[in-house]
Amino acid sequence: MAEKKRYGMLEMDDAQRKNLEKALAKKPLHHVNPEIKEMVLAQRKGMPRIIDIHTHPYTKIGWRSLGKFRVHLEKYLYKRTDITPEQITDMAPTDDEWVAPFKELGVAVMPCGWDAETTMAPGDPLYRGNTNDDIAAMRDKYPDTVITGWGSVDPWKNWKALEEVIRCYKDLKLIGIKFQQVGQAFHVNNKQFYPLWDLCQELGMPIQLHSGFTGLASGAPGGWGTKIKYTMQLIPDIDDISADFPNLKIIMLHCSDGRDEDAVLLCRHKGNIYRELSGIQPDYIPEAAPHTFYELNRRQRDKYMFGSEFNLFPLDGILWRHMQLPYREGILEGMFWKNTINILGEEMERVGINLKEWRVNLTEV
Ligand SMILES: [Zn+2]
Repeated sequence: MAEKKRYGMLEMDDAQRKNLEKALAKKPLHHVNPEIKEMVLAQRKGMPRIIDIHTHPYTKIGWRSLGKFRVHLEKYLYKRTDITPEQITDMAPTDDEWVAPFKELGVAVMPCGWDAETTMAPGDPLYRGNTNDDIAAMRDKYPDTVITGWGSVDPWKNWKALEEVIRCYKDLKLIGIKFQQVGQAFHVNNKQFYPLWDLCQELGMPIQLHSGFTGLASGAPGGWGTKIKYTMQLIPDIDDISADFPNLKIIMLHCSDGRDEDAVLLCRHKGNIYRELSGIQPDYIPEAAPHTFYELNRRQRDKYMFGSEFNLFPLDGILWRHMQLPYREGILEGMFWKNTINILGEEMERVGINLKEWRVNLTEV
């Protein structure tokens, strides 16, 4: 028998690992590899479900929330050069298929909506937002797995955006609001948008903000008019609003590619800033974001939550790769659910999630 090696918390021999890498690259993103599933579940035995705070329902209809940008992403992320919108629809999962991997792998999930109508819809017949009603409907259809969701509002819709935040809070009972500043083309510290932060703070709605580089339109001529300046200036953009709205919980998304050092400094300085690390294959994190990886294993260990960016990335592959990283003892478990309960527990209860399965373990572990 070939010799097994240790990769983080997993043990595999070289050939097995290579074969699984190959299987991951070939399969549809929403299918679960049975061997990987077995490894993941063996590690999770006796532990509560993982909580995934950042995903997109790019289903047969939902993928169109990125419109033509989604077609381009096929090229950027998967090297598929001449794919058509019809083929994307064919490959995309139905709602049932989208939810299945979370159920299989023991993950409770919070999908994000998408509204960038003002900036992304004009001239793009493919565009169709992922509405907040869509997100609430997924939760209502799969309450055991989709525990809540993040609304999205288009900041350029001014008072209508404010009304929509209130609707997300009151009527739809979503946990918070997600923004993607490159797609939505705005600086968060532009005073014009301060009423949004004021309202979210007042309601106790946490926000998710994109941070660092984005794959959106990456490699297209002129990035098809999109600008990464909206997410590359963590300081001052996010520094300003985190200081001006100290009771607003801000979750910086992704590993802040290109702004690693600023991200850990900001996270260290501002008590109301938290992070998640989706949008990159986890095995690249230690090199792509070395300050982040260092800090999350040490003094910022309580500030990181888990997000998968499913279904641009495969859920089984993301979990399997996290488990192979050299995290210090207890760090991954913290990220998988404990930190999320500590950071967002109050808000989760507000939207009606029963925290029992996590709370019980919080005291025991
Ligand atoms: Zn995302």
